[in-house]
Amino acid sequence: MASAQNAPSRPGSPGSRILVVDDEPVARQIVVDALAERGFAAEPVPDGPAALERVASDPPALILLDILMPGLSGLEVLRKLKGDPKTQSIPVILVTARDRPADLVEGLEAGADDYLAKPVDPSELLARVRAHLRTGDLLTQFEKDREDMAAVLEISRAVSSTLKSSEIFGILVDRTARIVQAYRCSLVLIGDTHDTAYVVASHDDPSVRNLKISLRKYPEIRMAVAQRQLVVVDNIQEDPLLAEVREHLGGAPFVSILVLPIILRENVVGTLLLRTSHLTPGFTEREIRICQLIADIAAAALQNAHFFESLELANVNLERLALVDDLTGAFNRRFFFRRLEEEFHRARRYKFPLACIFLDIDRFKPVNDRYGHLVGDRILREVTEVIRGSIRRTDILARYGGEEFAILLPMTSGEGAVVEGERIRQAVRTHAFGADVGPVQITISLGVSAFPGARISSVEDLIARADDALYQAKREGRDRLITTPD
Ligand SMILES: [Mg+2]
Repeated sequence: MASAQNAPSRPGSPGSRILVVDDEPVARQIVVDALAERGFAAEPVPDGPAALERVASDPPALILLDILMPGLSGLEVLRKLKGDPKTQSIPVILVTARDRPADLVEGLEAGADDYLAKPVDPSELLARVRAHLRTGDLLTQFEKDREDMAAVLEISRAVSSTLKSSEIFGILVDRTARIVQAYRCSLVLIGDTHDTAYVVASHDDPSVRNLKISLRKYPEIRMAVAQRQLVVVDNIQEDPLLAEVREHLGGAPFVSILVLPIILRENVVGTLLLRTSHLTPGFTEREIRICQLIADIAAAALQNAHFFESLELANVNLERLALVDDLTGAFNRRFFFRRLEEEFHRARRYKFPLACIFLDIDRFKPVNDRYGHLVGDRILREVTEVIRGSIRRTDILARYGGEEFAILLPMTSGEGAVVEGERIRQAVRTHAFGADVGPVQITISLGVSAFPGARISSVEDLIARADDALYQAKREGRDRLITTPD
């Protein structure tokens, strides 16, 4: 007798099992053989009570049910199955003698999904079985899709309700671990050199925040980063990818690994790393699909968190540390350098663009000489306001020296900075300054540098190139913007 465990599953529908319930051994075996021949996992069951027991212990995908059986009849079994919410969705095909149409009517009324007449014609049997398995698969798929969408929606909502990256990362790893039932789910951000990375969240240890790891020990992450594709390791003890690190995996409490790249602006900035110890190694298509959706949410969250943290930090410092310039209200030079260090580090690590504008008021000394310093200071404040009106909320405007300003533009390329710089230049030159002393025309010169860019590999380079460009703008006649070549 073939057991359910040993019988082959229907291709494309792993685990689809069919119960063949019939009290006549020959009739039962004919049906089982016909199904097994086509690759279905058919399990013979001799009577009603045994059928109910098998359904309860291991629900099949489909039941072929003989009506006429001693003891518990097929119709009684059917009523029990269709009356129980746990089993009512399992399709049942009634099998009965041609000369008992009344039984069929009763059976269909009791909720049977279909019927076959004895002796069973094999081709009709297969056609019916396939049709009902397909319907069952679709229903199951529909239910799962609905659950998946709900889970993704929930993650997406949770992520958008907080702006703190540490919380966002925590939510992502936590929910993902629950969906895939992972042994461990971590979010890993790739370092700027590609041989180090940082575990920024791990679902089993909320204290993990910025754990530095060497990617030499993680060939699966290296591969996901290099190929910009997900990497599945079904069995860590057998996969050749892990050969170089296998000796360290000896007692690893997990079996399979899934690495999903988090891609932002065409760069792999991190990975979602899942390890499982499921009884069945590997991951289902459904798990992979939903994790991919989550990786996309992570990418969006990463970008937003970056923006909002910049703002949050700016606000905090404004209030608590008074890192602003007293005269103009712009940030002071010290704060500018601190943010520049942070933004540059981030830009290099995540491959984000970062631009810097240096600008200086043209011929300001004659204004001071003619109207006095009080008027000069007022005009300086006015210039600051005009600049502030032309930059974005995420930009950082600082007074760099006497009448010199610096602007840091996170997530902005050199081209974007030129557009913004020209906007500032036009806004200043068309503004009537010093209303109380008669309109004073002011012009400014600007120098732009950007990372990544030629000869720019450090914070100092970024500043030096912007400064060079500003001096070139002065030399070439002022009231203009010069950008460093890419
Ligand atoms: Mg019978």
